[in-house]
Amino acid sequence: MQNPDHDPAGRFAPRVLSVIVPAYNEQEVLPEFHRRLSEVIALLPMSAEIVYVNDGSTDGTLQVIQDLRKHDARVTIIDLSRNFGKEIALTAGLDHAQGDAVVVIDADLQDPPEVIPELIRHWEKGYDVVYAKRTAREGETFMKKATAHVFYVVMQSLARVKIPADTGDFRLLSRRAVDSLKQIREQHRFMKGLFAWIGYPQMAVPYRRDPRFAGETKWNYWRLWNFALEGFTSFTIAPLKAAGYMGMLIAMAAFFYAAIIVFKTLMFGDPVRGYPTMMVTMLFLGGVQLLAIGILGEYVGRMFNESKNRPLYLTNSYSPAKSILEYEERDKRVSLGL
Ligand code: UDP
Ligand code: MG
Repeated sequence: MQNPDHDPAGRFAPRVLSVIVPAYNEQEVLPEFHRRLSEVIALLPMSAEIVYVNDGSTDGTLQVIQDLRKHDARVTIIDLSRNFGKEIALTAGLDHAQGDAVVVIDADLQDPPEVIPELIRHWEKGYDVVYAKRTAREGETFMKKATAHVFYVVMQSLARVKIPADTGDFRLLSRRAVDSLKQIREQHRFMKGLFAWIGYPQMAVPYRRDPRFAGETKWNYWRLWNFALEGFTSFTIAPLKAAGYMGMLIAMAAFFYAAIIVFKTLMFGDPVRGYPTMMVTMLFLGGVQLLAIGILGEYVGRMFNESKNRPLYLTNSYSPAKSILEYEERDKRVSLGL
């Protein structure tokens, strides 16, 4: 299983790891995050770039990462023009990352950076996507875990792409995988699904998910519900089909019921009765129709958004890591034979 992206013999070309960190109002955690990540990266046999994507934070996040960049030549900053949401922030990071391998990690230290060397070991064996699989989720409510579980069960039975359960966005991607992802420009981006969609050799590495180090989660149940909806509508049209089948079943039942009514009327005459039955039938059908229209609406709305063909995000600025610039200089000199 040899992956053309990397060369285990390691030519003189330096191998670079990019770590993408989407950050939305994370000023409290970022210094500690950077410290822990730097410790891990220092031990790696490759150079690194740390891509902070400021997703329109309203606190001092941008200032914090700018300070980090002053003292650390490996820091790249992408400053988005407003809050676009984590999925888009990740996409911006993937678009700009220069590494031969790219790690995606949350800023809040729920994904321990100490797992990264393990991810890299599997990448070196030739896997394109090495995802970290949670064995424990500390500091999360039973309700959140239960709803997540239901989501994965439904998703796995409906969608053709198998999305691994208990997996966040924390993972390593090979250059080939990143380039493939970059070709996907849809507006509604369910990243976990897209990571699975690209295929290639994939591998799971178990880890313990820690509680958030500081700051607050940006997810509430309403956002999670919308996230799940995004997942379903991006990866399966089963709900549309279900609406169709439900309509067919109800129509068939109605046909038989009509036959019974005609039969009864002929046999026993037509006393005015059946008001409750009529109400129930009408309300039920009305409800089913509205539901089906709602499902249609979810898909039509997404088609509407896609058809506008807007850029996925806009940036205030992109400041590449100084270390990468140096490497490019050196590469140029090497290829010129200087
Ligand atoms: N995030 C982001 N944009 C958003 C929301 C979140 O870039 O609009 C980042 C956030 O800074 C963090 C990661 O996405 O690095 C995960 O967010 P969070 O911890 O709130 O999610 P949870 O771990 O609760 O699923
Ligand atoms: Mg978190």
